[in-house]
Amino acid sequence: MITIDGSEGEGGGQMVRNSCALSLVTAKPFRITDIRGKRSRPGLMRQHVTAVEAACAISGSECSGLTVGSSELTFRPGKVTPGEYHFAVGTAGSTGLVLQTVLMPLVLADGPSRLVLEGGTHNMMAPPFDFIERVFLPVINRMGPQVSARLLRHGFYPRGGGRIEVEIAPAPLRPIKCLDRGETLDVAGQALFTGLPFNVAQRMLARAAEGLPDWAQDAFALRQLPEDQGPGVILMLEARYAHTTEIVSGFGQLGVPAERLAKTASARMKGYLEAKAFAGPYLADQLILPFVLAGGGGFTTVKPSQHLLTAIDIAQRFTGKRISVAQQPEGEHLVTVA
Ligand code: AMP
Repeated sequence: MITIDGSEGEGGGQMVRNSCALSLVTAKPFRITDIRGKRSRPGLMRQHVTAVEAACAISGSECSGLTVGSSELTFRPGKVTPGEYHFAVGTAGSTGLVLQTVLMPLVLADGPSRLVLEGGTHNMMAPPFDFIERVFLPVINRMGPQVSARLLRHGFYPRGGGRIEVEIAPAPLRPIKCLDRGETLDVAGQALFTGLPFNVAQRMLARAAEGLPDWAQDAFALRQLPEDQGPGVILMLEARYAHTTEIVSGFGQLGVPAERLAKTASARMKGYLEAKAFAGPYLADQLILPFVLAGGGGFTTVKPSQHLLTAIDIAQRFTGKRISVAQQPEGEHLVTVA
């Protein structure tokens, strides 16, 4: 039984989700203590419970300690059964993070699957749907499996109510090298909003444009969603290259001025544009599972985040593989699975 101290490293929910995914693929049981020990409200939240429930539902795994607020969990993996599944987070909890938990086990299963996930689609501290669709999944699809995602309805915090569908055609994960971005194709800034005054999104976009003076004015657009999908607002700054795409998000928050959000997001995008690495900070931690399960390959990334280092630590413990991070002469970091 692998024992994990959930307060180590990054000390958040990703340790629980990644452990479930790795446990299902490697058939190794685990126990995690002090769950989300570094968060202000430690223990499992509703969305983590849904993620683990989803892992159990696709596999008949046995789990104890699976309640909201629980700080300890034991997971004994069963056999993954591909098929049609429907998971509802119940709050605005992230559909993307539930997907993170079950995707790799289903990608490596012995038949196709179709998932319907309900909850938040564009929430803070989680990959927004657009990121999953255009940043993360294209890399998975290059590794062999074919996964497509469709957004049927947006879900923002606190109301939720979003809905996504994911189709998974499984295949073994092939080791690949993701070192260069390739040539720049285009850039775009989008403010997606609903149930809020028009000028909030407009100010957000204007400030983002100010932070990215090299981007043409017509690269920026406002998109108003139907009222019943809100209220909510998100700024997404997207840079497309021949081999990769990055999306930097600014999530609308009550009490945080639109300009401040846009200033931070545009500064982050500027940082990525000036770097050479393939993966931005979020994509990097999300690539650890598929790369370690492919058993080889590597990618370049910007400065390693605590999430990345923790994902590496957990992945090494389940698989026995070695993952190294080495700074390159031009500043990027090369992550290699040996
Ligand atoms: P945790 O904080 O441990 O629950 O993990 C959050 C997960 O969401 C990590 O895998 C992050 O890479 C991902 N994530 C958080 N914010 C973003 C964002 N703005 N864009 C893409 N992914 C994100």
